Amino acid sequence: MPQFDILIVGAGLVGLATAIGLRKKGHGVCVLESTSNLQVIGDAIAVGSNQQRILEHYGILQDFYTRAVSDIGCMYYRSWSSGEIISTRDMKTQKADYGYASCILSRAGYQDFLYQQAKKVGVEFLFGQRVESVEEDGPRPILKLKDGSVLEADIIVGADGIKSKVRMAVSPNAHLTSQWDCYRATVSRERLGSDPELRPYLKGIHFTMGPNLLIILSNMADIGDVSLNMYCLGDAGSAGSWSAPTTPVQMREIFKDCSPALQKMLTLVDKCIVWKVAQVSSLDSWSSSNGKIVLVGDACHAMTPHQGQGCSTGIEDSAVLSECISYAKTIEDVPSLLKTYESLRRPRVELIQGISAFLGKLWSLPDGEQQQQRDEDMRKTQPYYAGAWDGKPIESIPTGLRDPNYSPWLMAYDAVGFARKELDARA
Ligand SMILES: Cc1cc2nc3c(=O)[nH]c(=O)nc-3n(C[C@H](O)[C@H](O)[C@H](O)COP(=O)(O)OP(=O)(O)OC[C@H]3O[C@@H](n4cnc5c(N)ncnc54)[C@H](O)[C@@H]3O)c2cc1C
Repeated sequence: MPQFDILIVGAGLVGLATAIGLRKKGHGVCVLESTSNLQVIGDAIAVGSNQQRILEHYGILQDFYTRAVSDIGCMYYRSWSSGEIISTRDMKTQKADYGYASCILSRAGYQDFLYQQAKKVGVEFLFGQRVESVEEDGPRPILKLKDGSVLEADIIVGADGIKSKVRMAVSPNAHLTSQWDCYRATVSRERLGSDPELRPYLKGIHFTMGPNLLIILSNMADIGDVSLNMYCLGDAGSAGSWSAPTTPVQMREIFKDCSPALQKMLTLVDKCIVWKVAQVSSLDSWSSSNGKIVLVGDACHAMTPHQGQGCSTGIEDSAVLSECISYAKTIEDVPSLLKTYESLRRPRVELIQGISAFLGKLWSLPDGEQQQQRDEDMRKTQPYYAGAWDGKPIESIPTGLRDPNYSPWLMAYDAVGFARKELDARA
């Protein structure tokens, strides 16, 4: 198998995973990151079965377990006004259902973990290097850095997130859509635990569903904090930075009609930011016309976070891309293999992206008939219930959220196995 020189733009979770995947296939990999060191945006990240399967494929799952908390407990879906639990999803069954116990950890912890693993396998890093543009007029694609220098490679991978510059060379007509603001804050577990009314929130993940609002509380036991992601309709941050500063006073005002327990919890918040949540429109293509520049993760399919699948799907991309490139006998094979990568990934991620947006709406319905019907449905069936599934990975695309195959298809998907089968068939 030929070894290519590959430049990856972006040292986010997906860029790091892609670096590990490609390096493990023997390629020379260098990651360029605009920030001066590993900079982490965000707080908690849930790592579901489909993502863990990739970590196992990379041989790093056992190390990952030394960082992550695998006893998530339950997911609780609550009423916004009373705090009543409407539905409970027992996450302990995830291992039996889908092969891996559901994990959660701080984003900082996860990013540092992937960074250390990438360094261990020999990935090179250049921090403080902002990519301004990517071009492929000559035989090899090049990227231009802010300081004026130019680098070339056999393949350039854009893992530069939702505001991707690399995407300009691949699918310049892409646009971002957005309707949610997300107020984000952390509270120490110690402070929460000292109040008997708030102590029940120290276990599990709590979704509070209300009219045009959704609050997700996640425990990050690895760093001793609880994260609060509080969604509401709005356009804060739309002009300029994605994470605009705000005040706890403003945040409390927006969520002031929530249950007394939540009100009390919000008084414990000392500082918060407001984050614009957006998704990327369906791209014309995931790779450039000459086929040496390709996108992964949020750069090509950023989605709303309502299923906790943005990172998972990006990490699946990393493994499928590495697999596809490994089928190249010469560099000339790469363009068509990048097309294969897109054809394997796009139908899956676009369905997940659509369902995430739908769940955002469903979980924030105004009080009324539809909301009552939703609550009734959730009382009857656990969200993400595996149903009568026979335990075999599902490859065909489900019809939608109500398809009984949807959850097993989402969570027990064998991205690498599926890619190998398809690549062998097409070889
Ligand atoms: C509130 C919220 C909660 C979420 N929760 C979950 C969850 O529980 N589970 C889950 O699977 N997903 C979750 N997601 C989604 C997940 O966070 C993202 O899908 C994932 O982090 C995307 O990773 P990425 O590496 O593609 O992009 P990013 O994390 O955005 O990384 C891009 C990197 O590229 C760098 N960069 C950008 N431009 C340039 C440039 N021009 N030159 C050089 N470097 C550049 C950036 O500095 C950054 O380091 C959540 C998202 C949100 C908003």
